Amino acid sequence: MFAMNDLKGQVAVITGSTSGIGLAFARTVALCGGDVVLNGLGDPDAIEKTRADLAAETGVQVLYHPADMSQPDQIADLIETAWRKLGRIDILVNNAGIQHVEAVESFPDSAWEKIISINLSSTFYATKAVIPVMKAQGRGRIVNIASAHGLVASPFKSAYVAAKHGVIGFTKTVALELAQQNITCTAICPGFVETPIVEKQIEDQARTRNMSKEDVMKNVILGSQPTKRFVTTDELAGIFLYLVSDLGASANGSHYSVDGGWTAQ
Ligand code: NAD
Repeated sequence: MFAMNDLKGQVAVITGSTSGIGLAFARTVALCGGDVVLNGLGDPDAIEKTRADLAAETGVQVLYHPADMSQPDQIADLIETAWRKLGRIDILVNNAGIQHVEAVESFPDSAWEKIISINLSSTFYATKAVIPVMKAQGRGRIVNIASAHGLVASPFKSAYVAAKHGVIGFTKTVALELAQQNITCTAICPGFVETPIVEKQIEDQARTRNMSKEDVMKNVILGSQPTKRFVTTDELAGIFLYLVSDLGASANGSHYSVDGGWTAQ
């Protein structure tokens, strides 16, 4: 039997890992002995504290790279710096994402462009840059954080839903291209997880739908999930560890729902 929780000697680059799901995955990798490259926005002092605390707690190497995931040249530098400083990249998690909630007819062009670039195009640029590294190593794991919104839609999230459906299509294509190289490309489709991206949209949903914030939480956010509770980051870490392990070698090109039954409806 292969150990799913032993990542010693491996290096993971996780985009958008200064909070939420990305930070939880960074902790998971570090607790399993792997080195981590953090990335994301936020207060520089707070990010440095997060980086130093995680390194001290786990004893692994934890680096931070400030690439703006809407900028292709900075994404290329993220991958190149991670490889140069840590010597390998075994796991790439394309996780950075943002949201904007508004009807299509008034959806700002700038919000559409930004969501497509951060939620979809960054996945292309990071994957493109990491493939030669993984090919040279003879092994690699690319995990894309899509969403239940990569499979089904909700009103007022046109750019997000389009980007996440795109991530799943991109995942399948990369998986086919690399199928004989011992490199897998997979997608995780979480339901609602209690992170800053969800907290920020409650107010927008309330305004767009003319509802109270309490009603949005009960009927819109948790209304989609038959479990009537948020998905936890530990529940996502479970499938993540499987996908990056040797047990996940044939779990290629697929998307895995962890959504409390949302898309079973
Ligand atoms: P979050 O807001 O906590 O995390 C988003 C991360 O992306 C942060 O680290 C942020 O700094 C980073 N980021 C945003 N713009 C960036 C940029 N231009 N350059 C670099 N980093 C940038 O939210 P989260 O819930 O942890 O989201 C992580 C991923 O999970 C996203 O792709 C999101 O769409 C997806 N997701 C979240 C949920 C949910 O309910 N929370 C559900 C399904 C999918």
